[in-house]
Amino acid sequence: MPEKNIAWLPDLLYVAGRFESDLALVCDASGIISRIARPDEVSDEKRVRLSRRALLPGMINAHSHAFQRVLRGRTEYRTRLTSAARDSFWTWREMMYSAATRLTPENIYDASRMAFLEMALSGITAVGEFHYLHNAAEGRSYDDPNLLAKEVMRAAGEVGLRIALLRVAYARSGFQTDANPKQIRFIESDPEVYLENVESLVASVRSPTVREGQLANDALPNGRASDTAWIGVAPHSVRAVPLAYLRRVIDYANLHNLKVHMHVAEQPVEVSACIEEYGRTPIALLESEALLSERFTAVHAIHVTPKAIPSFARSGAMVCACPTTERNLGDGVVPADEYFKHGVPMCLGTDSHAQIDLLEDARELEYHLRLQKLERAVLSVMELFDCATINGARSLGAPGGALETGMPADFFTVDLDDPSIAGASKDDLLASIVFTLSRAAVREVVVGGKPIVSEGQHLIQEEVVERFNQLQKNLWS
Ligand SMILES: [Zn+2]
Repeated sequence: MPEKNIAWLPDLLYVAGRFESDLALVCDASGIISRIARPDEVSDEKRVRLSRRALLPGMINAHSHAFQRVLRGRTEYRTRLTSAARDSFWTWREMMYSAATRLTPENIYDASRMAFLEMALSGITAVGEFHYLHNAAEGRSYDDPNLLAKEVMRAAGEVGLRIALLRVAYARSGFQTDANPKQIRFIESDPEVYLENVESLVASVRSPTVREGQLANDALPNGRASDTAWIGVAPHSVRAVPLAYLRRVIDYANLHNLKVHMHVAEQPVEVSACIEEYGRTPIALLESEALLSERFTAVHAIHVTPKAIPSFARSGAMVCACPTTERNLGDGVVPADEYFKHGVPMCLGTDSHAQIDLLEDARELEYHLRLQKLERAVLSVMELFDCATINGARSLGAPGGALETGMPADFFTVDLDDPSIAGASKDDLLASIVFTLSRAAVREVVVGGKPIVSEGQHLIQEEVVERFNQLQKNLWS
């Protein structure tokens, strides 16, 4: 926490959907924005002049599997692992499993720190971690069934990101599908065991001993004791969680006011298997069973017919698109224009971490539609930036996403002289940032008033990278 009130003085400040000059962002000693003021009205505060900088709200990465960072660059070739004629999401998944089965708790901590570090360097201040590694490699539960979830949360705390740990429910390989031994680290086949583990994880973030300096406060919603770490539930998919189990998890979430995230309709095969099992598509199943609500985020939601979208919109549920991963895995194109047309709020995730740059996800959301529709400017620039900020905050129940009085001082700055955006005027700066900003232009990143990135460098960058280099060497050589 900052020791006293701080006034941040950039050249341009992004407030209420536009850039303004001659404004200071003032935050109090607890890291909350106390006011936005003219620079001449700032006197008692410590002044931090941010010359040639624009200051924007920190971005919210709503969907991450941090450990998958170890796979980067290792799946971009044709495989001979299976008899499949073509490489696909499913051949990639086998390779992902082969890494997932080998990681120790310490490895997961190191890989997560690497992913979170890269997020911080790109202007992300909060992450939703869709966490499904629960068991030891041979499938038994650790003495603490939340050991791996806590390693991921510890990694986020070290890097300085806020984290919603979305604890995954995973019951089976699929409808009429033999158990896959590579999934034994994910599986908790009894919903009561799963919910017991969720409950003890929620209780652990309420304990002041979990993270140094974190105070217990049971009054906050969404299973959180602080605004730095909190818990949500994540039934993996209709493939991995049968209906009775799914109902139980969502009832629990409704009762305890927890966010619900779920992979929905990422691949056509998932849709056809759901029709075979239930006679309905995944979206129709969720809707007809009254499982959708404002607390629900459908991740991907690609293979959805336009006809299904209006009633999905009425449920109040959100969609999280992950375009850099979806293009990498050949998943398909999310019909974002249809979701926008019906008022479905959309957020973004970096998912498999094939690349970590939420602005690239924002621009791909638009570019995929341009390629598909042979049109330009399908979505608006401000809508795209909202996907990366305020909508992500809503999906995770995270504080932040906008620079307003009473919100935490979570923000990033960009260098106005960086070659990727140099020459942009106040009016076209947001479009330049959304469509062309290089990650190297991100200079300061602040979470709760506390700088975690200064001059483009994270405070613990060297050590995190060194440990990750060692991990990759041990894992793959
Ligand atoms: Zn995912």
